[in-house]
Amino acid sequence: MKLFMNKTSSISALVVMAGVLAVSSVEAAKQPNVVFIFTDDHSAHAISAYGSRINKTPHIDRIAQEGMRFKKCYVTNAICGPSRAVILTGKHSHLNGFFQNGRSPFDGSQQTFPKLLRKVGYETAMIGKWHLKSVPTGFDHFDVLIGQGPYYNPPMRTTNDAGEVVVEKNTGYTTDLVTDKALDWLKQERKGDKPFMLMLQHKAPHRNWQPGPDHLNSFNNIEIPEPETLWDDYTGRSKAAANQTMTIARHLTPNDLKLNAGPNNLTPEQKKLWDAAYQPKNDAFLKANLQGKDRIKWMYQRYIKDYLRCVQSVDDNIGRVLKYLDDTGLADDTVVIYSSDQGWYLGEHGWYDKRWMYEESLVMPLVIRWPGVVEPGSINEDIVSNLDFAETFLDIAGATIPDDMQGKSFLPILKGSTPADWRKTFYYHYYEFPGAHSVARHYGVTDGHYKLINFYENKDWEMFDLTADPNELQSIYGRKEYAGIQSRLEKELARLRKYYNVPKEDPDSTRPKPRQKRANNKK
Ligand code: CA
Repeated sequence: MKLFMNKTSSISALVVMAGVLAVSSVEAAKQPNVVFIFTDDHSAHAISAYGSRINKTPHIDRIAQEGMRFKKCYVTNAICGPSRAVILTGKHSHLNGFFQNGRSPFDGSQQTFPKLLRKVGYETAMIGKWHLKSVPTGFDHFDVLIGQGPYYNPPMRTTNDAGEVVVEKNTGYTTDLVTDKALDWLKQERKGDKPFMLMLQHKAPHRNWQPGPDHLNSFNNIEIPEPETLWDDYTGRSKAAANQTMTIARHLTPNDLKLNAGPNNLTPEQKKLWDAAYQPKNDAFLKANLQGKDRIKWMYQRYIKDYLRCVQSVDDNIGRVLKYLDDTGLADDTVVIYSSDQGWYLGEHGWYDKRWMYEESLVMPLVIRWPGVVEPGSINEDIVSNLDFAETFLDIAGATIPDDMQGKSFLPILKGSTPADWRKTFYYHYYEFPGAHSVARHYGVTDGHYKLINFYENKDWEMFDLTADPNELQSIYGRKEYAGIQSRLEKELARLRKYYNVPKEDPDSTRPKPRQKRANNKK
């Protein structure tokens, strides 16, 4: 710094320039590899590092123990495809154009972080669940599931030697197969003379939770504890919470509950294992003829065990990746990240699924290991987001972060020092209504202590004190004693909407507006 202050000496200026060049070339030589392991619908409260009461995830825990665990990583829009689009672009849904699952394909011609990483010398690969409809762009290699992809024997989209996009058949359990393919890419296919960004993205543990051969009988003789709010009656909040269609009691199908013939795409060997696992349990269930609450309790056990069985295969396969990095010595120069596209309801509020700004779906798990940079066993409580992932990856790689990205690099936080101006509040916006599970459109703000939600099409508001009411059962919106806090949050919400350039009119016009049906606004 002293050299910078001595502006009168041209010799000093030259020394500074030489120093800057030397630093940047050293930095360039140190560009680390990144392995980004990402799942679909894995809630933080089904990870033992996050205090799970219901399962153990030793390999994800290892990443946390050897790195940093984030307690407040919030998703901007708690649903699969939109979360992925935010990660690729560093922009909210209203700017990247991907508001909902099942609508228009992701516009792959726009700026994404993998394209920018390639410009600074990275080799990039995307293996597993893509879920954005369009053909992946910005990758030296991709091998992706088609749409959601099945749990067993998935066809996958890749390119052949001539560079043409082709669909290839595969046999095996998808979580294992995706890991096999990622390891094959690391071992054989990548060129090896460049740092790499590997996006290893699992389908699991997405609905309808089909366990793999290794875990069909895990948790068999265990009673999984029920969450406190399994029997929520939705009083104390706006109508939205009662009007959804995502309850364990009423909205799981026989397919979800494995009370039908099972998946129709299994090999004879897979089918044999499947039937051996489910048939005796299903026979016992039918014989018991459970009714009322007992039946719902059984449904919770069936649902949660299948979910956790899928999670255990994910964790096993993360162990395989970590072992490979250890065995090859790559671990020292590789940032390993585990996250999932949003949180998930493990029976809380009587629900499965996601979508809401309530904590269970708002919080994404995020653990990051980077030997020599991230302090092992560190825990961070700053508000970070999937909106920051692109910026952070670029920063890690020493690339310039474009001005039009909306998040911030949390590299300083990884290095142990939170910037003084780091965000204290967070903006959320969910759009998929009408849609699966009938969760009303809403946006809101939280500072991690209080939360204000606007169900804007219902003209309903909710507000929660997360310290006094961590389960978000009693809205305090409109209460006199909270008037000051409410006013502060309302102003902050307006400021954030302006800051992020959210249009006043709902920017997602992919369906007729309420009470104003128009035929011409379908995209
Ligand atoms: Ca998801």
